[in-house]
Amino acid sequence: MENNMIYMRDIVKSYKIGKNKLTVLKEVSLEIKAGEFVAILGPSGSGKSTLMNIIGCIDVADSGEYILKGENIKARNEDELAHVRNREIGFVFQKFNLLPKYKAIHNVAFPLLLRGLGKEQAYKKATRLLERVGLSDRMNHKPLELSGGEQQRVSIARALSGGPSILLADEPTGSLDSKSGSEIIEMFLALNHEGNTIVLITHDLNVAKQAKRIIHVRDGKVLEQ
Ligand code: ADP
Ligand code: MG
Repeated sequence: MENNMIYMRDIVKSYKIGKNKLTVLKEVSLEIKAGEFVAILGPSGSGKSTLMNIIGCIDVADSGEYILKGENIKARNEDELAHVRNREIGFVFQKFNLLPKYKAIHNVAFPLLLRGLGKEQAYKKATRLLERVGLSDRMNHKPLELSGGEQQRVSIARALSGGPSILLADEPTGSLDSKSGSEIIEMFLALNHEGNTIVLITHDLNVAKQAKRIIHVRDGKVLEQ
């Protein structure tokens, strides 16, 4: 348990819908080590995004244990949760979630400025990150002036900006054609090779297969490996 980046034991999560309760995660247990590239694979509605929200400290479980980098997450209040989230997690979403009015460079620099970095440093770092994802010639383009794959690479640069412990990607290829999708997975493989811990959430077996390990989720449960 010591060198686990993520340790989950018997995580349960339900949603209230009117008078009814829908239990989405039913005693999920999993472990992910630092430096791994893991895919969480399951059909639509199986609870993947719910699990991602808990891993990413966007939401907390009803019961069970979640230890992230040695910190027990259950014990945290909303502010502390946000603090852990900002420090440890870089998010990549299916729909990119970029600020449409801002150029790529601003989209990446913005969270750095929010973190209190000086303007010059923030833009220097944002430039480096965009170069890292192969977009040195696209820094001054706005999201709609970029292809889907390029937008996703901007969002990966943004996700890396805070130096996260985990890159957490929910269906990152879901809005992309297969060629751009493959390029995003290649990018993750390269980033993993450099030591980044990556958790890729997908319903697509062909995408999941490209990770180093697959955790199968079905009906709110992790299947035997
Ligand atoms: P997946 O990402 O695998 O498609 P989700 O975690 O998004 O699955 O959803 C699992 C189930 O929980 C679905 O049946 C979905 O309708 C339900 N669900 C997800 N989020 C909420 C919510 N905020 N309130 C109520 N039900 C939800
Ligand atoms: Mg989902």
